[in-house]
Amino acid sequence: MFCCSNCFADAEIRAIIDGNKTIGTCDFCGSQNAHVYAIGKDQTITELFDGLLDIYSPISDLPVNFPREKTDLMKNILYNNWRIFNLKPDGIYRIITAICADRYKDQSELFDNPIGIKQSLDHDYLEENSILKNNRWDDFVKGIKRKNRFHSDYINKDKLFVFLRCAVKSHRKGEILYRSRICPNEKGFSRAEMGAPLDNSAKGGRVNPTGISILYLSDSKETTLYEIRAGVYDYVTVGRFKLQRDIDVISLADIDRISPFIGVAYGFDFTQYAINIEHLKMIAHEIAKPLRNDNLLDYLPTQYISDYIRSKGYDGIEYISTMCRKGANLAVFVPELFKCIGTSVYDVKSISYSYDQI
Ligand SMILES: [Zn+2]
Repeated sequence: MFCCSNCFADAEIRAIIDGNKTIGTCDFCGSQNAHVYAIGKDQTITELFDGLLDIYSPISDLPVNFPREKTDLMKNILYNNWRIFNLKPDGIYRIITAICADRYKDQSELFDNPIGIKQSLDHDYLEENSILKNNRWDDFVKGIKRKNRFHSDYINKDKLFVFLRCAVKSHRKGEILYRSRICPNEKGFSRAEMGAPLDNSAKGGRVNPTGISILYLSDSKETTLYEIRAGVYDYVTVGRFKLQRDIDVISLADIDRISPFIGVAYGFDFTQYAINIEHLKMIAHEIAKPLRNDNLLDYLPTQYISDYIRSKGYDGIEYISTMCRKGANLAVFVPELFKCIGTSVYDVKSISYSYDQI
């Protein structure tokens, strides 16, 4: 029986299957001429899943007071919580019971009955291993907005760092990114006027608090037009910025796509990953969340995380554009890392709207 790399979203597993260089037809997703993996013949992927499945207990082994809402079927947990497969729950059930066929024979209730993670209710375990300790994300947000801004104790920073390290992305000297400004006429702005604002006029944003100037750049001209919310008949100056040296940034766009199978190299185990999945998704969501009124207090949670990332010596933060589908933004902590090497002026001819009735 063959599965293929298209069945998986997880980069590690895809690399294993693609590395085999065997081409065939997948028995699960039906892909043809795909890189395939012979289930049963090769044990590599079975061993990876053995470690992951070990963290779950069937409902019969869980304490009687274990909340039912914290249990679910394996196929649903793998579909909803983990970004490992590109299959629907029933497809996941077929493939996981094939990959872990011996275990399915010995312990079918792990696959067919609700399962849960014992540590997810262990106060001491969570305090030590969860990014949010025993708090909810809302507790952190309320705390930092209304109680204790600079010495808030809701986040387990050591654990946050473990996962941030997995999302490091390098940018090479010479790379070109873009930044735009709406300008009053077709003459546009000069290169000197295209940089980040001075510290004392820097408004707070998603990644920077008021008074700390950083450089917000985007991956394309189009993304910048969306980011500055350019309107019809606006003149816009687009600056091209060239990176002056190699830099390492944290890609918060990828923070919830870390492969659970790289934990040995990065210092986390499957249980630690499992109890933090929701928090990592929340961080990725918050950094990319559209804010309608630019209420500066709403930026505090992401400013806190970005401030921590800067304190660890990284050069910036990358995140998905909220304004432009498929666009990406890079916020660079030290604006001088990029130099404006040229500008062009554009006249916005039309924009298209998409909307829902409320
Ligand atoms: Zn497949």
